[in-house]
Amino acid sequence: MNEAPHLTFDLDTTDVSTGHLVVPKGADCEALSLPVFSCNRGEGPTLLITGGNHGNELEGPIVARRLVEWLPEAQKCGRIIIVPEINPLAVQAWTRNTPIDGKNLNRVFPGRSDGSVSERIADAISRLLLPMVDTIFDLHSFGPTWNFPPAVITHPIADVDLMTKTLRISEAFKLPVTLLWEHNDTAGMFDTWAHSQGKIFICTEFGGGTVGAEALTIYEAGVRNGLIALGLVEGKAEYPTFRQQKSGQTLETNPSDQLKSPAPGIFEPRCSVLDEVKQGDLIGILHPMDSLSADSIDICAPTTSIVCGIRSGVYVQGNEEVASLARPLAL
Ligand SMILES: [Zn+2]
Repeated sequence: MNEAPHLTFDLDTTDVSTGHLVVPKGADCEALSLPVFSCNRGEGPTLLITGGNHGNELEGPIVARRLVEWLPEAQKCGRIIIVPEINPLAVQAWTRNTPIDGKNLNRVFPGRSDGSVSERIADAISRLLLPMVDTIFDLHSFGPTWNFPPAVITHPIADVDLMTKTLRISEAFKLPVTLLWEHNDTAGMFDTWAHSQGKIFICTEFGGGTVGAEALTIYEAGVRNGLIALGLVEGKAEYPTFRQQKSGQTLETNPSDQLKSPAPGIFEPRCSVLDEVKQGDLIGILHPMDSLSADSIDICAPTTSIVCGIRSGVYVQGNEEVASLARPLAL
């Protein structure tokens, strides 16, 4: 019989400690040892911070490593547990999905102890870490083929009280966008599972082609603001500067706001994130490349909206998402 998932150290240890979360071996690979940091300063909220859920989103693991550096000095109370890379196999391969089983870790929660490696990782987190925390910050980014403003994203939550708390903490990150995102692909998400357990789940997102110093500064400032809002760290929360502005807005988007490519080809963006567009404004152009007699196709805004995300110059298949529009949240 396989060993059970376990921690190599006691998370109840006072002050700073480090160790590993061991994900047992299975038919597809050997056991994994995920490095875990813990800072236990007694009374207060318990927070889990995770990065590297998707392997080609490296801002999260970098910011998580930065937190490990400065939290021991800054944390005043409560408990913070950090796992900078929950999917090291995908990070090492720089792929969204886990290379061994081809699965998206963020669609297999709560996982299975006898499943493939992604399911075993989800199972270990669900069993050993999730039950002991109140709040989760899962640090994502939009990866290399999207432009997306620094944002906190959440999905609609049926529990009104949890939805209200989640939006309040999300806005406290003071990132340029807080986005309530309704989409049809939420089964098996870490978010959805954590919500079902009554936890506050904060997902940070960010995109811009490459990992850059300015983007990381904004991302880290947002997470620090979140820690201040939870009372774990003292200090004054401030809006980070993004495009010469210090401000934030709360938006909502749903499946009908996702603009799809009308044919396979190269997508050329014609606007930038946070642009305000009116009905008929040009969002981008799809260039079919298999025949020069095929006209390029304009993709236009169906209604007055704010451009929330746009593909950053990539070959797309037909009916693939190329832009995401949004509007101010009406509550
Ligand atoms: Zn992601």
